[in-house]
Amino acid sequence: MAWTVSIRKGDQVRVIAGRDKGKTGRVLTVNQDKNVATVEHVNMLKRHTRPNPAKQIKGGIVEREGTIHISSLMVVCGSCNKPTRVGHSFLADGSKVRACQHCGATLS
Ligand SMILES: [Zn+2]
Repeated sequence: MAWTVSIRKGDQVRVIAGRDKGKTGRVLTVNQDKNVATVEHVNMLKRHTRPNPAKQIKGGIVEREGTIHISSLMVVCGSCNKPTRVGHSFLADGSKVRACQHCGATLS
């Protein structure tokens, strides 16, 4: 079975490298072309904005999630609660599903 990086929007993931190593969060976006993702509350960037009363924008610091390379992320299995590499297995009807390396549970 080939273990590939396979992360999808909505997955619970653990950060395994970088500034936010050890954090867990939910995947907000995945960019398959660049192999990067954004994860809730991970790799936060601060952006300073100017007030613009015409657009009802208050000035200040806006925080948003920055991208992180998906090789720095591992999916957390919903069944055994462990960060896991995701494998693929095939169902009887031939459809491909993602599975946990530890407990074999199918990941949605
Ligand atoms: Zn598992």
